[in-house]
Amino acid sequence: MEEPAKIRDEMGGHMGKELRCSDVGFDCGFVVRADTEEELMKKVAEHAKEVHDMKEVSEEVVAKVTAAIREV
Ligand SMILES: [Zn+2]
Repeated sequence: MEEPAKIRDEMGGHMGKELRCSDVGFDCGFVVRADTEEELMKKVAEHAKEVHDMKEVSEEVVAKVTAAIREV
């Protein structure tokens, strides 16, 4: 027997990934959304570079971001 929420997802629900910059430790209201974790990571890297002057995304940051990703 399937749960209603699961059926809804399978019928083309908008499953995606979301990350709030504040969840990674920045005092920032930026929210990133993407369909995949890979795409999200790219957007995060761009934002971090442009807004937070982070020249490269370290493994530590990647780990933090991965842990903070939410399913939306
Ligand atoms: Zn930010």
